[in-house]
Amino acid sequence: MRPTIRTVLMIGALALLAPLLFACKKEAKSNEIFFARDSFENSNGKLNVITTVAPLTDIVHNIGGDRINLYGVIPDGTNSHTFEPKPSDAKQFARADLVIVNGLHLEEPTLNLAKANLKQGAEIKYLGDNTITEREWLFDFSFPREKGDPNPHLWMNPKYALKYAELTRDWLAARDAPNAAIYRENYTRYKTVIDRVDAATRQAVQTVPEKNRRLLTYHDSWAYWAREYGFQVIGAVQPSDFKEPRPREVRAVIDQIKQEQLPAVFGSEVFPSKVLRQIAKEANATYVDKLSDDAPPGKPGSPEHTYVGMMLDDMRNMLPALGGNAAAFDGIDPAPTFQRSGP
Ligand SMILES: [Zn+2]
Repeated sequence: MRPTIRTVLMIGALALLAPLLFACKKEAKSNEIFFARDSFENSNGKLNVITTVAPLTDIVHNIGGDRINLYGVIPDGTNSHTFEPKPSDAKQFARADLVIVNGLHLEEPTLNLAKANLKQGAEIKYLGDNTITEREWLFDFSFPREKGDPNPHLWMNPKYALKYAELTRDWLAARDAPNAAIYRENYTRYKTVIDRVDAATRQAVQTVPEKNRRLLTYHDSWAYWAREYGFQVIGAVQPSDFKEPRPREVRAVIDQIKQEQLPAVFGSEVFPSKVLRQIAKEANATYVDKLSDDAPPGKPGSPEHTYVGMMLDDMRNMLPALGGNAAAFDGIDPAPTFQRSGP
């Protein structure tokens, strides 16, 4: 057995505040993404669906296409783990027919607002809870078993993302029988792309030298991806409280990165981390600060601003930094695949 880094750093108030400020700034970008505000307010006969995190909103968009009104409550690029919905979102929930969330304890404040405002007959559906059983939950660095909240990032595993799409297909079809065939067709189209991402990932990880198939990240969102594709998550640096980081812990991580000759460590766009940058510098590892689990690239409406676009970007940032290559992803189109009903 290789020695592993089992260190979770509690980094300080500054490190915690930075991403929050960043998140607030990004919130202005808002959730216009697929949000048909007018249709939501003046019923056009379509199903009103609310989702939460941007990648899930995109998965639901690929299945519902233009047959549903869709509102993503959590603006993309926002820290979903601490997100509090706006009080004004209450009126959106009051109009929703279906609320589709990740679950696994990710969106508690949003769920509370939903439950308090849903109209009669509206439903809340849980993707994560219906994708894996409790025995398959993963607890790890930022999601320790003692706290009881499993790592919620199921969607980072394309296999689970496909299950999310399948569940969405069935839920939409059950509520909206006239469009059921369209939802099934949209699922079939989307499955083709997700299957390609999965196959390309299997191929591309083989180009990474076996000793480098290890991840040290800032945000702990790769657990289910790693389990699927034979990587080991050896540590995560995640702000968990307001304590100052202990220099001794930082030192230990630096020493272990050197000892294990880890070529790169990974930060995320939503959580810029000076501490991780410093760790990488002192350990002579490349610092890649571009991984994302909830912020699709590009602008809302652009073809790459999708879950698939996000995964392609992540792979292109991650695998070469570990000595592999991402050529297997060439030619995969990240754009939405649903069948459009008209011009
Ligand atoms: Zn996350």
